[in-house]
Amino acid sequence: MIPLLRKKVAMRAGRGENGPDGCPARKTRLLHQCYAKLLEGWNALTADVKVLQWADGLWRRSWIVLAGLLSDQPEADTFCCDGSQSCKVCTCPKSRLHEPVEFPLKSAERVRRQVYRAADGMMMIHGQAKAAKLFERDRRSDVKWKPTRHCTKAGYERARKALRGTHLMENAFWGKTGFDVQLQVMSSTKLLTSYLCISVHICIYIYIYVILLHICAYLCISVYIYVVSVYISPYMCIS
Ligand SMILES: [Zn+2]
Repeated sequence: MIPLLRKKVAMRAGRGENGPDGCPARKTRLLHQCYAKLLEGWNALTADVKVLQWADGLWRRSWIVLAGLLSDQPEADTFCCDGSQSCKVCTCPKSRLHEPVEFPLKSAERVRRQVYRAADGMMMIHGQAKAAKLFERDRRSDVKWKPTRHCTKAGYERARKALRGTHLMENAFWGKTGFDVQLQVMSSTKLLTSYLCISVHICIYIYIYVILLHICAYLCISVYIYVVSVYISPYMCIS
């Protein structure tokens, strides 16, 4: 995780608090531009099994997968390009987070389609007379979308509200093989409350990690990249 830009300093320097170039949008975009570079060509690079030497000295045929993101609440917001105080996993509205209710799960692919529709002016937004294109999207995930003349501060925030707080930008984790940023981002605060059974908000989490690893890594903010042995067998040793 890169250090977040200091909001007060940025605001003193004249950067706004909202809009497409406001502090929250800019720091989120910067993080995703960095991850987009880091994960460039990820799907092609990890498509095949690799022969890797493991810590025990054996060489194994291994499969590399992006397993999950562990973070505190602000980082979880940033990973999902989201606003604060929203559940990243399900569609529960902020006003009902304190209730023991179940809502449909979010999906990175669905969020992506909605963001693209809003950016392309294909979505009717409450408070807006007619749909207008807000951004010229770039096909490269590390390049900032170019705002159109319709992308005013108010117009951008209206579109964000229609998207339940999601920023209009490319999320670096969209489209990565076997990875759904909405379901596999995990707030450590949420984990703690789950363990202590003091949270009443219920989500059906799809965890592909080992729980104990989470407890050990509770204070870490990290991207998990797992290397999974395809065949755990001494016969696969080639050294
Ligand atoms: Zn939820």
